Amino acid sequence: MMKQSKYLNNLVDALTILPGIGKKSAQRMAYKLMRSANEKTLNLSEKLSDITTKVASCSICGIYLDLSDTVMQNDQGDCQLCIKENRDVSKICITESPADVYTIDASTNYKGYYLVLDGNLSPLDGRGPEEIGIKRLESRLEKGNIEELILATSTTIEGEATSHYVQQLTNKYNIKVSRIAFGIPLNGELGYLDSDTISHAFNERKLL
Ligand SMILES: [Zn+2]
Repeated sequence: MMKQSKYLNNLVDALTILPGIGKKSAQRMAYKLMRSANEKTLNLSEKLSDITTKVASCSICGIYLDLSDTVMQNDQGDCQLCIKENRDVSKICITESPADVYTIDASTNYKGYYLVLDGNLSPLDGRGPEEIGIKRLESRLEKGNIEELILATSTTIEGEATSHYVQQLTNKYNIKVSRIAFGIPLNGELGYLDSDTISHAFNERKLL
């Protein structure tokens, strides 16, 4: 039997942590990297290393920021979005990805807080409440002072399931829950929409 490269096999295994990448695709990627110029592959390796040592998530909202940009003052957030003076502490907007926070922040005049979940619920892929960080949301809700929760997850099946789950979760608290809806196509991911559509969907959100 022909001996295969152990190092290439290790890379293939490592690549399968990426979403939607199975063994076959990982193998194609590994071969492609093997054929690329060494400096391009090393550059990728350096970028991967950078995100493990130079980037952290804000302890309040969960968006990613460079450690060199963290604010960390008293009980304020670590990022610009969570500095209390500018924000309305009674509102939290729930998103499934940090990218959606930037989009909503740039396209609406929302001044409340954000909380980024680690993706959406997807029981078939083994992604339950714990995997998407529902605990962080619960501890935020338990602190009180929240009057409105805005569900800004996608209108995909998983996004809807997540939205529904969070809504059920808030039953025991006295919180108004609203869901962005208007203008977002069914099965739509926020990341693909233009800022006008997002702005409209946000401002026309429906109470649940
Ligand atoms: Zn933050």
